[in-house]
Amino acid sequence: MEEREKIFKAQSEKVGFDLQHRKVIRYNIGQYNQAVKRGKNYFHSLDAAKEQASDIKNYVLDDIERLLTQFEEKAVQNGCEIYWASTAEEVLECVDRAIEIEQVKRVVKMKSMVSEELKLNEFLEKRDVEVNETDLGEFIVQQAGERPYHILTPAMHKSKEDVAELFNQKFGMDENSKPEEIAEFVRDYLREKFCASDLGITGANFLISETGSVGLTENEGNGMMTFSWPRVLLTIAGIEKILPEWGDLDLFWPLLSVHGTGQQITAYNTILSGPKRENEADGPERMIIILFDGGRTRLYEEEQIDQTLKCIRCGACLNACPVYQTIGGFTYETTYTGPIGSVISSYMDGTEDTGFLNFASSLCGKCTEVCPVKIPLHHLLLLNRKKIVEGHKSKGVEKFFMNNYKKFMLSRKKLERVNAGWKNRAMKGVGMKVWGPRRSPLVFAKTSFSKSWVKKHP
Ligand code: SF4
Repeated sequence: MEEREKIFKAQSEKVGFDLQHRKVIRYNIGQYNQAVKRGKNYFHSLDAAKEQASDIKNYVLDDIERLLTQFEEKAVQNGCEIYWASTAEEVLECVDRAIEIEQVKRVVKMKSMVSEELKLNEFLEKRDVEVNETDLGEFIVQQAGERPYHILTPAMHKSKEDVAELFNQKFGMDENSKPEEIAEFVRDYLREKFCASDLGITGANFLISETGSVGLTENEGNGMMTFSWPRVLLTIAGIEKILPEWGDLDLFWPLLSVHGTGQQITAYNTILSGPKRENEADGPERMIIILFDGGRTRLYEEEQIDQTLKCIRCGACLNACPVYQTIGGFTYETTYTGPIGSVISSYMDGTEDTGFLNFASSLCGKCTEVCPVKIPLHHLLLLNRKKIVEGHKSKGVEKFFMNNYKKFMLSRKKLERVNAGWKNRAMKGVGMKVWGPRRSPLVFAKTSFSKSWVKKHP
């Protein structure tokens, strides 16, 4: 077993039986489930909305090159600077140039999973740039020295008591501070940072090809401060974020908010079409957009797996997944976690290191059921498993057992050649190690079901 897989299994065992972790996650996902149930009623026909969103995304996949080129053309007309980057290194070079030219010392940042892919905060800090996460959840995990636990709700693993304790340690606040007091404190703390930052950094929820615009959605207003206060705005967007038309947001914004948080629509939705114009009071003087591949082309090239490029990062499949709920977000050690993360991580990294994650699923299909853009996640997990097995990448012992299992299961004669006594002896030895210590012992009956049946119904 590879080192990474070993760590994953050990960590899963630990977190899976951590009762406090279970309590916090169950509570937070329980709250989410109630909100989403209410939210889904906002749609006259949710199925039709999902079908339509899936069709639009399929259209995007068929014509992605033209749509991205059109986006570039329009965004340049709007006064933006566009850069294309295949790898994380290329993005970071671009960021480096911007901080050098603009002499950036302080940055405010909106929540962005792409920036997690790039490990952007570490990069900026090494260059002596102060980075301030401005989304409350991101701010909390930054203060805790952690990475986001969940792609949409980064601090989902923390209870309100955990957060109060953290703010007591970090900022000397009362250890029994209420959530509203903490929010009030963070608002004041960040206001200064917004005013004194040279650069704002955002991701993109959507890129609109028709107009060369960036669509951003948020609940706290921190995004609006991030892109309107600093002199320079840097947007780093995965190329899969492209939508053909402005009007598509009509469908995608509510779909994202309902599946992400259960809201009919998030509080602040902004369409950015270039830097500040001559007669405008607010906005950045310079707007740079980096269109980032980062392994997305590898996903695009794989038949069926290309469907994952339809993902709008709502997080619904994570919340629905019994494995994610048990082992939690940190155990995966990948930027994207849960079912979608398990399917895409090895393609995005360009390595086989995380292929084992495809086996961390019960294949119950709940992820596919909840996905707003109809990505057949559990089928894709199965497809990746098939590729791993066909590529002869499965381990020797596993292969030996599965080959013999198949032989025995296909032949009743062979299956019954070994009597229950021998089977039970084998289980007590090697078998129990495979069976695992937490399951009740497996005991074979003396007479098989078929023999008992024949006896009862001669
Ligand atoms: S795969 Fe579907 S459910 Fe999962 S995050 Fe993406 S859009 Fe949401």
